[in-house]
Amino acid sequence: MSLEHSHPIQLNELYRDVIMDHYRRPRNKGTLEDPSVSIALNNPVCGDEITLQLLVRDGRIERARFMGRGCSISQASASMMAQQIEGKTLAEAEDMIARFKRMMHGDEKAGEPLGDLMALHGVSKFPVRVKCALLSWEALERSLEQLR
Ligand code: ZN
Repeated sequence: MSLEHSHPIQLNELYRDVIMDHYRRPRNKGTLEDPSVSIALNNPVCGDEITLQLLVRDGRIERARFMGRGCSISQASASMMAQQIEGKTLAEAEDMIARFKRMMHGDEKAGEPLGDLMALHGVSKFPVRVKCALLSWEALERSLEQLR
C-alpha cells in the first residue's frame, strides 16, 4: 500500500497525503445503472485497471463513476478526476484533459485550475508513472470521442 510498490518515487509530503487519501477513500467509485458511455482500460506496465462510466445529459457530465485497481497513483488520479468532472460540460472536460496532460509533461502552471489534481504534478518527473496517472484520463478522452 505504498507509492513505491513498483517503482521508486518521492513526492512532497503534502501532495503525498492528498494522493494517499484518495487512494484509501476513493471518491466516485462504483458503477452506473444506465451509463451513456463505459470505457475499460489497463496499463500493463504497472498492472493498473480502470473502468470509467459517464452519464451525460444535454452536453454535461451528470455523473462519473469508476471501478479499478492498481497503484495509488492510478487510483488516486481516477478518484480526483471522476470527482472533478461531475457537472462539467464536455468542452470543459476536454480542457481539463489538455491541462492534465500538459501538467504530466512538466507544465506545472497548466494544472493550477485542477485543484487536488495538482498533487500529481510531481509524478511528471517519473516517466513510467506518468502512464499510471494518465490511465483514467485516457478513458475519459475515449469516452468523449464515443459521445461525439
Ligand atoms: Zn500504476
